[in-house]
Amino acid sequence: MPETKQRTAVIGGAGVAGMSLAYQLQRTGWQVTVIEANTAGSGTSRAAFGNLEPYSGGGPHNPITRKFVLTSLRDWAQWHDDVSRDARMPIEMVHKGTLELAFNQSEMLKLEKTVGEVKAEGIEFNARMLDRDALLALEPNVNPKAIGGLHFVDEAYVDTHVLLEALRKAGERRGVRFIEHDLVKGIIREGDEVVGVDTARGKVLADVTVLAEGSGVNHIAGVPHVRMQGIMGEAIEVRGPPGYVSRSIQYGDSFMTPRENGRIFLGATYRETERSPLERYRDRIDPNVAKELLNLNAVAVPGVRDFQVTREWSGIRDKTTIDQQPVVGRWQFSGLFISTGFYGLGITESPATAIALANLIETRSWGMIPPTIRSDRAGL
Ligand SMILES: Cc1cc2nc3c(=O)[nH]c(=O)nc-3n(C[C@H](O)[C@H](O)[C@H](O)COP(=O)(O)OP(=O)(O)OC[C@H]3O[C@@H](n4cnc5c(N)ncnc54)[C@H](O)[C@@H]3O)c2cc1C
Repeated sequence: MPETKQRTAVIGGAGVAGMSLAYQLQRTGWQVTVIEANTAGSGTSRAAFGNLEPYSGGGPHNPITRKFVLTSLRDWAQWHDDVSRDARMPIEMVHKGTLELAFNQSEMLKLEKTVGEVKAEGIEFNARMLDRDALLALEPNVNPKAIGGLHFVDEAYVDTHVLLEALRKAGERRGVRFIEHDLVKGIIREGDEVVGVDTARGKVLADVTVLAEGSGVNHIAGVPHVRMQGIMGEAIEVRGPPGYVSRSIQYGDSFMTPRENGRIFLGATYRETERSPLERYRDRIDPNVAKELLNLNAVAVPGVRDFQVTREWSGIRDKTTIDQQPVVGRWQFSGLFISTGFYGLGITESPATAIALANLIETRSWGMIPPTIRSDRAGL
């Protein structure tokens, strides 16, 4: 029998997008190399709260993308089990939903309108209004001045730091090769075909090349740009007693997400930035911003004001200027693919995106990638 050669892929960027795709491709029979400028999982993905949230926090504006995000939310259960089994490490994932609070009647009406919109989309998704008693029964430490809230019951959160470590380990156990502290500088072309990348240390040739460097895709020689704006998100962590808050709680511009060990992330700002794509995560923020975040979140849960601040950081979200939707699929040349522009939902969307993009790479048919995030849409 003729020997079939294992197909190869090189992926630039070891964030949630690059590592999820690497894991998916490798376990479907490819030999994958990931090249990361810093260390795996040290970019924007490290800044994420890990909320899996198609609706709360606004979610995607486009109903077609929302459907895809909902698919991803459903994919999460199996994805979580697969990654943690292959990595041989548990990943905290909590399915207690997300709460949005209301402090007056007009805010209650707004939340009711959201429930109506969810129902009108005709998608099975559990969103229910809570009165004050029900709200306090669910989260006893929210501000008792709140008059009610909306519980997106089906939403969840995942511990992103552990997830990133697990994605790397799971990938490695399956055979993914990680090259860290190496920079993708350009693509290598033979005519119209991309056959690999030029890096700071040499060349990596592969059947398929994938750009998953976040805003870094626009700094790779020979690659047509995606119009994106960097939006910095600053955040802080406080430490309280375990269980003080059990689910993500949002009010106005504030949102917090707990971990089971008592850590609570408070966030986050949205500021335009021109920061370098190689500095996608930073572990210091302006002390005034830290104070602002504490005060803002203390409206929803007053007790957080008394907790010790244990960490602060910022990350860059990639917002496509045309429609704020991701860019996933083939990119300009044969053999070249892209996965970027995930803005505030890259963790939520990671399983469905990895599965759909691996499928496109394998079958060459767009299939599972919805038109609203496809890289061949006009205006990018
Ligand atoms: C404060 C904050 C909170 C968030 N909360 C959530 C949330 O709760 N839920 C959610 O779904 N999403 C959330 N997000 C969004 C989410 O973090 C992003 O959408 C997601 O992490 C983007 O992943 P990525 O893999 O595209 O980027 P990254 O994780 O940044 O990965 C890109 C990698 O490419 C590397 N790189 C860049 N250039 C090169 C190069 N030339 N060569 C090699 N490597 C290169 C970088 O070093 C980086 O490691 C949040 C974001 C922020 C800032």
